[in-house]
Amino acid sequence: MGDLPGYKGASLRFLEEAGAAVGDVLEVRTSWGTVTGTLVPRYLDADGEHVVLKLRSGYNVGLSLEELVDAKVAAKGEKPTFSPPPPPKPAPGLPKVLLIGTGGTIASRVDYRTGAVRPAVTSDELYSLVPELSQVARVEPEIMFDILSENITPAHWAKLARRVYRAVKEGVDGVVITHGTDTLGYTAAGLSFALGGVPVPVVLVGAQRSPDRPSSDAPLNLLAAVSIAGSAKFSGVYVAMHLGESDDKVALHRGTRVRKNHTSRRDAFESVGVPLAAVWGRNGLEHVADGLPPRGGEFKPAPRFDGGAALLKFYPSMPGALVRAARRSGSKIIVVEGTGLGHVSKEVARELRLFVRSGGIACMTSQCGRGRLDLNVYDTGRDLLRMGVVPLEDMLAETALAKAMWVLGTGARGERAKELMLKDLAGETTTRTFPG
Ligand code: ASP
Repeated sequence: MGDLPGYKGASLRFLEEAGAAVGDVLEVRTSWGTVTGTLVPRYLDADGEHVVLKLRSGYNVGLSLEELVDAKVAAKGEKPTFSPPPPPKPAPGLPKVLLIGTGGTIASRVDYRTGAVRPAVTSDELYSLVPELSQVARVEPEIMFDILSENITPAHWAKLARRVYRAVKEGVDGVVITHGTDTLGYTAAGLSFALGGVPVPVVLVGAQRSPDRPSSDAPLNLLAAVSIAGSAKFSGVYVAMHLGESDDKVALHRGTRVRKNHTSRRDAFESVGVPLAAVWGRNGLEHVADGLPPRGGEFKPAPRFDGGAALLKFYPSMPGALVRAARRSGSKIIVVEGTGLGHVSKEVARELRLFVRSGGIACMTSQCGRGRLDLNVYDTGRDLLRMGVVPLEDMLAETALAKAMWVLGTGARGERAKELMLKDLAGETTTRTFPG
């Protein structure tokens, strides 16, 4: 990462001219006065237009290049260093698990001096930080991306799906994907469709607290994910994250029915409308739900996505123009998160009708979080049905979006696309709503 991690373009040149490195105390002259502070690293995807300093007060300030005159290093800082122990030797005869790194908190460290969380731990390092992994599998770590999950797109899902496909052909016993938690549910849903019939477990895993913090959930989550991927008797796409606040159980959620429901708790993830797929304790799987697909079977990967779908959350006073904007930005399928049983205002309904008439597909989900749509109860719902809005039963809105992008990626359009949206392909809709 060099001396100026995360800096690029004009801001990188500005700092290089000043001979600055992250951690140095800089005196920066601006058009409105001089600012003194410690230079903070930036996220990998940050823009090239800002320099960020941590002030003595502890606050970070982002200075726009337009207002900067020059900078001088007032004091050199200590370089942050991190050297992981060598990776442990796996015991022979263990299952082979491919560990793919994509970034996120599970692969980050807090730089305690600057206070920034930075993607810094590679999957190799992660592996060596959790030595117990070598007791449960022969892990083959590999980094595919190093980004926070808010920057993951369907193009990344497609690359992941293709990598998993190759790994399965090469004979791995399971795959673990480390990923930021924010959009973990979307990626898990996308992969559930792209990896139809995958014959091994594919377990996505994240962490709410970075691995260098004593309260981190990274080691336990990772250990559970690798052990399940290597040894579970079932296959499919899942998410493994802390169960409850204790530090000894991990919940396994089905990839199409999982949601992050808390901003910071370690047990932020919940299975919605279905029981947990499994519960893992330090001695292995303690409980496995009935009906999970066994290992093996016919693998029908379809690793293509088309981003021409949108997800719109309805709200009181929502302008119909937002539907038009989605259409103009190229959306061929619009997933609406309606209220209650699946409703929107007259104005939005009118725009959806125009969208459907122009060949678009409008799908309805509910923002209630739990329960199932019923568009037959009120007039508004019946009107939506009459105009051809597709009711997606109890499918989660984010799963519906990922599915829409996948359906479009298969090349399906019109009636065929609608049929696919309605058909349960990866456990995304249930016939019986699980209480709770
Ligand atoms: N924003 C981060 C991400 O999703 C949070 C996390 O990793 O938990 O990448």
